[in-house]
Amino acid sequence: MTPAEILKKFYGYDSFRPGQAEIIDAVTHGRDSLVLMPTGGGKSLCFQIPALSMPGFAVVVSPLIALMDDQTAALQANGIPAAAVHSGHSETDNYSVMNALAEGKIKLLYISPERLLLEIDRWSDRMPVSLFAIDEAHCISQWGHDFRPDYTELARIKQKYPRVPVMALTATADRLCRSDIAANLKLDNPFVWTGSFDRPNISLQVVSNPGMQVKMRMISDLIRRHPNDSGIVYCLSRKAAEDMTARINSLGFKAVCYHAGMGSLERSAAQRAFINGDVQVVCATVAFGMGIDKSNIRYVVHNNLPSNIESYYQEIGRAGRDGLPAHALLFYSMADMITLRNFAEESGRSNVSSEKLQQMLRFAQAGVCRRRILLNYFSEPSDHDCGNCDICLNPPHRFDGTTLAQMALSASIRVGGKAGMYMLNDILRGSLKSDIRRMGFDKIKTFGAGRDLNVAQWNHYLSQMVQLGLFEIAYDESNHLRPTRLGLDVVYGRAKVEMAQYVAESAKDSKKRKESRATVPPQALDPETQLFEQLKKIRMAISQQEGIAAYMVFSDATLQDMARKRPKSVEEMALVSGVGERKLVRFGNRFIMAIRKFEGLAATMPQGSSIRHTLILYNSGIPVPEIAKERNLAESTVYSHIAKLIDEDMITQFGAMLSRRQYEDILKIRREHPDDFSDHMPENLKPLQSVAWAIYNYQQRHAKV
Ligand code: ADP
Ligand code: ZN
Repeated sequence: MTPAEILKKFYGYDSFRPGQAEIIDAVTHGRDSLVLMPTGGGKSLCFQIPALSMPGFAVVVSPLIALMDDQTAALQANGIPAAAVHSGHSETDNYSVMNALAEGKIKLLYISPERLLLEIDRWSDRMPVSLFAIDEAHCISQWGHDFRPDYTELARIKQKYPRVPVMALTATADRLCRSDIAANLKLDNPFVWTGSFDRPNISLQVVSNPGMQVKMRMISDLIRRHPNDSGIVYCLSRKAAEDMTARINSLGFKAVCYHAGMGSLERSAAQRAFINGDVQVVCATVAFGMGIDKSNIRYVVHNNLPSNIESYYQEIGRAGRDGLPAHALLFYSMADMITLRNFAEESGRSNVSSEKLQQMLRFAQAGVCRRRILLNYFSEPSDHDCGNCDICLNPPHRFDGTTLAQMALSASIRVGGKAGMYMLNDILRGSLKSDIRRMGFDKIKTFGAGRDLNVAQWNHYLSQMVQLGLFEIAYDESNHLRPTRLGLDVVYGRAKVEMAQYVAESAKDSKKRKESRATVPPQALDPETQLFEQLKKIRMAISQQEGIAAYMVFSDATLQDMARKRPKSVEEMALVSGVGERKLVRFGNRFIMAIRKFEGLAATMPQGSSIRHTLILYNSGIPVPEIAKERNLAESTVYSHIAKLIDEDMITQFGAMLSRRQYEDILKIRREHPDDFSDHMPENLKPLQSVAWAIYNYQQRHAKV
């Protein structure tokens, strides 16, 4: 089978996404490769399809043990033999997987890095490994945000199997990290594919120093705008995730939380509820969402500053996988910065982590198109503003902020650099809090000098001054703000500063809402959506009956295509994107029946002599008598379909249908009784006649001359 045929048969897709065909071609020709594609870009197919077309089995190395079982189950649902070996399974289970592997029963083996490193010493170098795929390959780089020492050991793969192609895959790697991956895995002249990281359908918005009230108002607006879709709110801690869940629920929406402190049962229940659309929002710590293929996530909110741009981009990338508009909303405050800095220091790699955090902060505080910053970060510079981020939509107004800055800087100097962000804010506004009086800060000359501005405004300007390098934060001394040399230049009138004008979030919001009302049509339940909702219910019923996740039955994107195309027969169903042969046979009928009902047609399909239906059932390994029963046809009719399919070269494997002996017997009788062979045919061979004859013709056609 060609890669395109495999794509159709097993996955039900008609064409490759950008890069897939090229990568598959490189691997099947034995070349190493480095694949960079954004989340949802379709990386998995790049190794799954070669695994199916090459002899032996492919080894997929992934650190995400929690997802392996889901991934193998999804493959099995498509009729692809896959298995996983990792510490979450019993040794008996792992052992039987290794046996099945030795017997050639598995095409894809998912394995954790540490386990592979154990196994690889035991394997002979003649083990039929077709390729090694290293998923989440950024873990190999010291410069990555997720370094795992185990991963560097994977260089041993090349030592032991120098001729087996190795494919490294990742969704997040800056330029440094890319060369690290290739070097550490000892890739030999790899084929490098860099898919575009741009996700233009995700609009970007950053809000600095919002209070809880503003946060909740913005979040509930998002939920209200997308009542039938879903979103994720990422939180920094378990407690924050729980707190956010409670707040959202108290507003009358449906939210669940997801974090590492929950039991695995509780966690998978939360994940299922989200995937099945029973809840609108998941409030999660970062562990949530990897590998979730849910196409209608419409918004991702970061309740705090993420610790690096890679994580941020990966997380917002979970929204809008279907290509429709989606929204990424980031809240951050200086307090986040302080918490994250402590994390970074504890990480043991404080240099790398702090630098990455600084870049994240620079993004959040930027005054230029945010998408350009992101694309630039991933070495894909763009020459135009995106028009779909808050900066592009609402360019900040700039003004000469020298006087404002002098006020804050001199207040800081007068208190001997002993005030943090919040206290300085209070001093400038002349707040008489007890701390301030106790320290005597209410006596200084600049006390209350900035009372024309409110808390939010001062927060905004003080943050900007940090960003502009007028203040630095003394992390080791209670996070006090200290004027820098540049700050002193400003105080003494030797330098000027330009600042971005503060705009209240509520003002921005209402402006945007006016705009979006004009462009986004109100949500009404059009027939397509109605049908889509019904199809989702059927999917849910199947998922419960079969005990597999809803998205493994069909993805949202597939149900949407189904609702659009409304297939009323098996042939039409086979044309829906994402309906491969295995799923067509297993699930197709129930969806067809629902669609026919929706269209007011008789629920059952006309039992015509649809040959393609026979082909599909035959290809999925169902014996002829069962095909006949399933289709309510005589066996001889099914055989005549098969004969016809052989005539058209649609079926080229005959062994399962009749034995060589039967075949030769039939031909012999035909030769000996050319005029009345039917009369001489024994009963048991009669139904097979047409097939035997078709095979004979097939062999004549294909005989080498
Ligand atoms: P990644 O691993 O890059 O995050 P996946 O391999 O999980 O992405 O693919 C994301 C989604 O896109 C999956 O639902 C997958 O089935 C779908 N997909 C992949 N390739 C194609 C294709 N050629 N045509 C249609 N859908 C595809
Ligand atoms: Zn922009």
